[in-house]
Amino acid sequence: MKIGVFTSGGDSPGMNAAIRAVVRTANHYNIECYGIRYGYQGMIDNDIVKLESNDVSYTIDKGGTFLFSARCMEFKTDEGRKKAFENLQAHGITALVAIGGDGTFRGARIFSDEYNIPVIGIPGTIDNDIAGTDVTLGYDTASNTAMEAIDKIRDTSTSHNRLFLVEVMGRDAGDIALRCGIATGALGILIPEMEGDLELLYESLERARLRKKKSNIVVVAEGEESGGALLVSKKISEKFPEYEVRVTVLGHIQRGGSPTVFDRELASRMGVLAVEALRSGQKNQMAALVDNKMQLVPLERAVTEKPEINLEKIRMAMVLSS
Ligand code: ADP
Repeated sequence: MKIGVFTSGGDSPGMNAAIRAVVRTANHYNIECYGIRYGYQGMIDNDIVKLESNDVSYTIDKGGTFLFSARCMEFKTDEGRKKAFENLQAHGITALVAIGGDGTFRGARIFSDEYNIPVIGIPGTIDNDIAGTDVTLGYDTASNTAMEAIDKIRDTSTSHNRLFLVEVMGRDAGDIALRCGIATGALGILIPEMEGDLELLYESLERARLRKKKSNIVVVAEGEESGGALLVSKKISEKFPEYEVRVTVLGHIQRGGSPTVFDRELASRMGVLAVEALRSGQKNQMAALVDNKMQLVPLERAVTEKPEINLEKIRMAMVLSS
């Protein structure tokens, strides 16, 4: 067996640590390992390099991905995938570890079915939006980055009696917003999974106004159904003219940085499991964390199901902000 490893779609902190774990585990079992640069694009362009243990030294602490990432439309075509397969064949690569989000896994499943090449996925995205795993790789680091930024915003919010709306990433998932809202003691949290949360926020703002508390933090998920933080700030300003509202969109700062201890360990565990799974003949599975245990979960689940938001956390956040 020869394994090809690649990162694809949006990057997330911990991807390097996962590549490292795949390369080192393959090395441990005397399996040759190849890095495919720029995800599916590199597979099509034959941008493939052999990776030895030394090639992944000093990578565990680095954000981003040293194999680079890309979005590749050509891989969605039959011709693109054919070219990709021919390049893998030319290198003798017979199995893949795909590190990325649900789009990456969708492509991997199609490719694997067409060319009978086993794939193990490692869920790498800050959004925590993949079904079948408790957490995705990079979510912890991104949440910590957002939390630290919000703590700093809180200082100026308090000094000037201002209401800050802080928009965090997560695509259609509210996990980063919910977690950071709880961790920063936000007055309100707006997430796409919860209907009517804007009305609840209005009630909280009214209560805060009555007790003359004008400095507050509200964490808004970028996918919030009532619009992003800018739109919500306009609605609040119209309804509560006494609040001085400011908006901060944290943006890509959340995607970078050195991975936390949690993400480094998770990446290592997932990388080891991915290679050991391929070795034992598994295919089309995802290395997942389920109740703090590593487990293989069908890729099928990761691409067809939507993860559920933790309702208990929503309830808790509401108790704590009242
Ligand atoms: P993520 O993996 O972060 O969700 P994308 O949704 O952009 O990111 O997917 C990454 C890449 O996976 C795409 O650029 C494309 O090359 C490949 N991909 C996604 N969906 C498909 C599909 N239906 N068929 C083939 N390839 C796909």
